[in-house]
Formats: sequence, C-alpha cells, structure tokens
Amino acid sequence: MSDHYVKVKVQLEQMKSCNEDAEKKAVDTKEQLPVPSPLASVSPDPSSITTTGRDASNTSITCKHRGKSRSKLGKDDKNSCGKHISDLPSHGSVVSAHAGRNLNRLEHEGTLRVKGTGKILQGKSETNGNYVSIHPSKNIQEARREDGMKLTRKRRPVTVDTAKAKTSLEALKLSIKQLKWKEFPLGRRAACDIYWHGVSFHDNENIVSGQVNKFPGMIEMLRKINLSRAMRTMQELFPEEYDFYPRSWILPEEYQQFATQIRMVKENDATVNPTFIVKPDGGSQGDGIYLIRDPSDLKLMVGSQAKQAVVQEYIHKPLLIDKLKFDIRLYVLIKSMEPLEIYIAKEGLTRFCTEPYQEPSQKNLSHVFMHLTNYSLNVHSGNFVHSDSQSTGSKRTLSSVLYRLAAKGVDIKKVWSDIIALVIKTVIAVVPELKVYYQADIPPGKPGPTCFQILGFDILLMKNLKPVLLEVNSNPSMRIEHEQEVAPGVFEYVPSPVDEQVKVGVIRDTLRLMDPGHKKPSIQSSQQRAGGFEHGEEIPMEAETQERTADEGALPSLCLKQVYPKYTKQFNYLRLVERIAALFIRFLGVKGNMRLGPTAFRTFIRTCKLSNSNFTMASVDILYIDITRRWSGVMHDSKEAGMGLQAFVEAFFYLAGRRFKSLALKEQVVSLLELCEVQLESQSGVEDRRSVSCSRAHPRAIKTQTLGLSNPQLTSPAPLRRAASQDYRLHQRLKPRALRANVEN
Ligand code: ADP
Repeated sequence: MSDHYVKVKVQLEQMKSCNEDAEKKAVDTKEQLPVPSPLASVSPDPSSITTTGRDASNTSITCKHRGKSRSKLGKDDKNSCGKHISDLPSHGSVVSAHAGRNLNRLEHEGTLRVKGTGKILQGKSETNGNYVSIHPSKNIQEARREDGMKLTRKRRPVTVDTAKAKTSLEALKLSIKQLKWKEFPLGRRAACDIYWHGVSFHDNENIVSGQVNKFPGMIEMLRKINLSRAMRTMQELFPEEYDFYPRSWILPEEYQQFATQIRMVKENDATVNPTFIVKPDGGSQGDGIYLIRDPSDLKLMVGSQAKQAVVQEYIHKPLLIDKLKFDIRLYVLIKSMEPLEIYIAKEGLTRFCTEPYQEPSQKNLSHVFMHLTNYSLNVHSGNFVHSDSQSTGSKRTLSSVLYRLAAKGVDIKKVWSDIIALVIKTVIAVVPELKVYYQADIPPGKPGPTCFQILGFDILLMKNLKPVLLEVNSNPSMRIEHEQEVAPGVFEYVPSPVDEQVKVGVIRDTLRLMDPGHKKPSIQSSQQRAGGFEHGEEIPMEAETQERTADEGALPSLCLKQVYPKYTKQFNYLRLVERIAALFIRFLGVKGNMRLGPTAFRTFIRTCKLSNSNFTMASVDILYIDITRRWSGVMHDSKEAGMGLQAFVEAFFYLAGRRFKSLALKEQVVSLLELCEVQLESQSGVEDRRSVSCSRAHPRAIKTQTLGLSNPQLTSPAPLRRAASQDYRLHQRLKPRALRANVEN
C-alpha cells in the first residue's frame, strides 16, 4: 500500500465521524441507476357514452376502443377531432404504483468507487440508514487530482417526517420508497427536510427549518364562507373572469338579500324556478347539504343557533356521462406563495353519482345519489360500482373521462385550458389572505419552515362544457384504499387501484418538486417561458419540461405541470387584492398580528396622503369604526379585535370610489393602489436618506423594499412602527385560531 493511499485511508476514517450538519454540506453528486422506465397503460372502456354538451348535444356515440393502446387511442382521437391531446392528463405522466414498486428493488450502493484504481472504498451508513457523505479535505482533493481519481458518490437521501401523515401515510410511504428517500415514521430529534402533516400546518409545532406540506391559514381560507367571500371580491373587480363560481349568499347574514333577489327574479319571469344548494360552512363530504327551491325552505335557526352556511345557485344542467352526474377532483400543488408557483396534476379523479340524473324538481330534490357526487355518500348506494379499471365504475381517472369526451368530438384542449385558468384564478383569489396568515405564523426574520400544499379542487363540467368551481379542499383525501361492505353492515378498507395510481403519482411528484437538492428553475426563466401569450388567449398544452436529476432518470416524467409563473402574462393583472394585502401587511407592522388597529389605519391614511379637507381624519375614524364593527359582527369565529384584510379591502374600495368617482371599480382600485405605492416608495426613500444621515451603522436594515412579504418592522417608517406597537398592545393576537375539525374531503 503506498504512503499516499494510507494517508487517504486515515483521512477517510476521520471523516466517518462526520455529523449530520457536515452531511448536509456534502457535495451533491449522484449516482445514476440504470432502471427501466415503467409506463402505465390505459385501456379505454368499450362502453358507450351519451354526452349532452353544447358541442355534442345532438349526437350520441358508441366508441369501441377495446384493447387499443393509449398511444393508439391518442392517434385516433387526433385524426378524428383534429386535436392534439397527447399532452392531456394521464399521457405517460402517471405510473402505476405497482410498476413503480419495481424501482424499489434497486439497491443503494453504499460504496465509493475509486475510478482508475479498481479499488472500492466502503462508505459509512448511519444506523438510520442514511449515507454519510465524506468531506474531502484539501489534501485529499489534491491527492485525488494528482492520482486522477474521481469519486462518484451517493447523495444523502432526503429525510421525511411522516409521524403526522395520518390517512396519507400509505400513499406517502409508497412515494418515499419509489424515490429512495428516508422515512422517519416516528419523527426525528434532528431536523428533517420535509414534514408531512395530515391536517394542518400546526400538526407539529416549533418546526424551524425544512418544508411543511401545509400553509398556515389554508383550512380557514378554504372554508365555504371564506372562499365565497374571496371569490365575491374578485367577482366585483373582474366579473367576467370570475364567472366560474356560482352565485352565492352567506347565511344567516345575507338571508334578506337572498330572499329579495330570488323574489324579484321570480316576479320578473314566472317561468323561472331556480334551485339552490345549501352547504354548511364547516361541512364536508356532503354532510348537511340540501337543495331548496324557495328561500322559505331554508332550515334557518335564529340567535346563537344560527347556522353558518353558503346558499348557492344550483348548476342544474351538468354534463352527463352514462346519464350520470359526475365531478372532477383535480390535485393542485402550491409549491410556493412568494413567488407564486402553481402546479396542476395532469391526472385526477372523477366521482360519479349512482342514480341517473334528472333536472331538479320538487319530487327529486332529496335524491342525494342523483344530485351529490360525493364518494362518501354514493359508496353507500347499492348502485356504487367498485372497479379496478380506470375507465369504468363510480370513480374513474380524469383522463379516461376526457378520452371518452374527445372520442365524442369534444374540444378537450379547450376544456383543459379553461380548467387551468379556473385554478390559477382561484389561487389568485385566496393568496392575499393566506399571506396575512403566513406573516403571522412565520414572521419574516424568524426561523421557520417554508410551506407547500396539495389542494383538491372540485370542479363540475356544465352541459356546455364550462367548468364550474364547487369548492377547494385544503385536506384532500389521499387514501388509497376504499371502504367495502364485506358482510351486511361490516365495512373494511380494501386497496383501490384507481386511487393508488393517481394519488401516489401526485405525492411522489410533489416530493420530487420539493426535493431540497433539486435544482430550481429560475423565476426569470419560467417567466420568460410565459412570453408570447396574451390575456384572453387559449393556454397551449405543451408538454412539461422539467429538469431532472440523475436519480430521477429512473422515474416517469412528472405528472405535475407548472401553470404559474408559466402563464404570468395572462393572469398577473388579476393580482390586485394581493397588492392591497401588501399594504395591509405593511401597516400591520407587528409580527404575529392579523388585524389593523385604529392608529395603524390612520397611519396608513396619513402616509399615503389620502385625507384632505373633504375627507378629514375624523371621517377616517368613522370609516374605521363603521367597517370594523360590521365585520366583527359577521366574523363569528374571530377572537381578535381590529380590522381584518377583508374589511380593509372594503375600506380600500370605498376610498378608491371616493377619490376616483368617474372610473369603474377596477380602475378606481388600480389608481388608488398606484397612488399609495408611489407615496410609500417616496416615504421609504426619505426614511432611507434620513437613516443614512443619522447613522451609517445599519443602512441595510432600512433599505427600501417592495410591498411583498418583506419585514414590516424593518421597512415601516418610525411613526408607523410606533403606531403599530400601540395597536399591538391593544389587540394582542389570541392563539391558536379555531381549526376546522379533522376532516378530509
Ligand atoms: P362538501 O364539502 O360537503 O363535499 P361540496 O361543495 O363539494 O361540499 O358539495 C357536495 C356536492 O354537491 C358536490 O360534489 C356536487 O356534486 C354538488 N354540488 C355542490 N355545489 C353545487 C352546485 N352549485 N351546483 C350543482 N351541484 C353542486
């Protein structure tokens, strides 16, 4: 053994004691594993469909695709419809979990191959199975260079804390296995890279690093009432763009408006007899939902028993397949909120009713198996069909349904691009308030994890193929088993291949995108890709071009498609409320606060120079009291005093209307925003200059920042900071906020 080799060996021995910190800093080299790429195959169902769509309402076709391969079908569709559907959901994007399991047979090699010497040096494995990377010292590096040695090393597996994963656990385990990552089912004393929570951000408290699969405030934000409020704000600003959300009223506070409007509609036209669907605010899985045809049918209770609910226009002409109503469950990943990054799963699920659909009539209003598509309800119907095939039964893949529609001549490309637009617009509607929650739970400057989240969008296709948003689930079920009645009244969970195929793909690919070692595509390059398509144009369906790591070469292509910032150009103009929220957050000023106090509101008015002789500070105080009092009456679950974001938005709209009377609401808001932002910029400039002249010690701390999620403590002018802390003393935030019951949908 040469002296040199002895030296190398000694150094390697020393490095075996490297701790996990050192491990993290290790050089990120990977071994490529020669794995065959498994592909799922789809065999379309040979049954016939009757589609009552606008484009297709006059025809009824029988498609026979028995035994055809998916690629063959795609080709046929292309020929028959002139459409390229090759990039539509499912196309080669989702691998069967069974096939994926083959990947797990591949072993991790715990060895270091010393090229050129034929020698193999053993690496070190931790007791938990982690591979400890070795830090080459300068000497070794030099020595290697001299010897021409090259090391090919394993990357430290990504660590996932699955202790709180609850019902996602099975799908998560399979995903982690496919990725050859390291699972910590009982948690871990040291920090993990990823924490998978089954319910909310707060499932594990005190996480200070890594990534959590839930955003703070998402549960609250997506409750039916809050979602309806956020959508309504957007409908006021952009009525046409947000017409995909059914007209909704919030009960009990809007009962009178609801009753009056319906009475007027009926008086105007006696032949109109609309139907409404009533949904309890905290409800899920169809619980407590019922249909009505008249406001007097509402099961309202008074006083403290008054039920919080949303009453919504009932979509009475849904698209039918096999004469059945169905809805789409689409999985959407919010990869990051700042900057906003949204991915859509190319494969989803469709849930079918179990009783043939008829338009609502007094006779059938209570037929839940006809009107409600919830799996949890229909599974109890005698007609529910459990099927191992993706294209038959009461739960099918989205792609199988789209193929059937395409075969019927439906413009699937248009449907899919409308769905993408619906998703982006919905996320844009909820992000402003989410940012308020985010800064309260993870204040800038405080150590904390970053967040991502998979959401479940429930979408109904109307007869005319227009997608309608029913609701968004913060906690979509990731179960890959289904309940089956094995004996009368005895239910058991049995594997569900359709769920497994879709959900394991979504979780695995979410993890791949969140891989801390994954090279992130730059925002700029994503935005550059967004170029070329203007607002209003149809979104193209090009294939996803995701960078892959060496290990990922073995995995199927991502089933998640980036849609934002990819389509920034088409949708960025909708992000007005987010700019209002940025002002709000800036004037909140105090970490952890979610409500604006009266002094901070005054400071906002003063700083932005919004008061004058016609609108005095006394009027400002009255406006504050007026709006805050009204909102505190409707925000029943709120324990905090002060002005929340939604109330601030209302005040902002009012101020915009006063100032720019002649303009339409959207232009009023844009004009006021510009005015405020200019004022704040100049204020920051003054503050900047003042601070630099007073002290040269910390010029960076008060540097002008954009109105994003910057630290308001650092950016706010001194009077603002004083005002904010006074408000804080008055309105200390009460924690924890009420969470919806531990329900998944
Ligand atoms: P939940 O959270 O209880 O599942 P949803 O809002 O998803 O509540 O409604 C349950 C079901 O009711 C949906 O899956 C859908 O079939 C039906 N539904 C909901 N809203 C409407 C609507 N506006 N028009 C027609 N059907 C609806």
